[in-house]
Amino acid sequence: MNILLTGPAGSGKTTQARILSQELHLKLIKTGELLREAANSDSSNAILLQKYINEGELIPDDLVAKIVKDEIKKNTGHKGFIFDGYPRRLSQLKAFDPKLDKIIYIEISDKEVLKRLLKRGRDDDKEEIIKERIKVYHKETQPLLKIFEDQNKLIQINGKGTEEEIKERIKQQLITHHLLKQ
Ligand code: AMP
Repeated sequence: MNILLTGPAGSGKTTQARILSQELHLKLIKTGELLREAANSDSSNAILLQKYINEGELIPDDLVAKIVKDEIKKNTGHKGFIFDGYPRRLSQLKAFDPKLDKIIYIEISDKEVLKRLLKRGRDDDKEEIIKERIKVYHKETQPLLKIFEDQNKLIQINGKGTEEEIKERIKQQLITHHLLKQ
């Protein structure tokens, strides 16, 4: 079984993806983190990756797809994966389709994203970059979610509240969808 955790930056998707990978015994693939690692390595693409990340733009599909595919290859023997943040736009599904069974979408408002990320303070958590990431999210990622909704694969979660509250909401939904036992 393959599950995507998605939502705007600051929605808490990485935290929830980690919790879920433990509960469901699925291998976690953290796209953002893999990309940041590659951007800080001495690989030939490092400078290019840094540029995209520091501008809040999505990295070209072929590069992201390769990083995700390599990570899957490195982790054979798992019964499935939790994808944190891949795919993030429609063209990525064409570059590499991870064959998702369910998509968990953590929903929070743009105002809340800005508030949370300014507090977090990662390198790309600067007001201008955050605003660009929000824009990219609406333009690129939301149309992808519409496709998953049409396929009845989308589980929408209210992302306002504590980590614990959101974890419980996801758990209840997974029980409802028979992906987790009570
Ligand atoms: P995140 O850690 O998920 O907030 O991602 C941080 C940054 O990594 C994003 O702003 C993008 O520049 C890049 N990134 C993460 N996931 C993807 C993806 N699926 N496609 C392209 N770029 C991505």
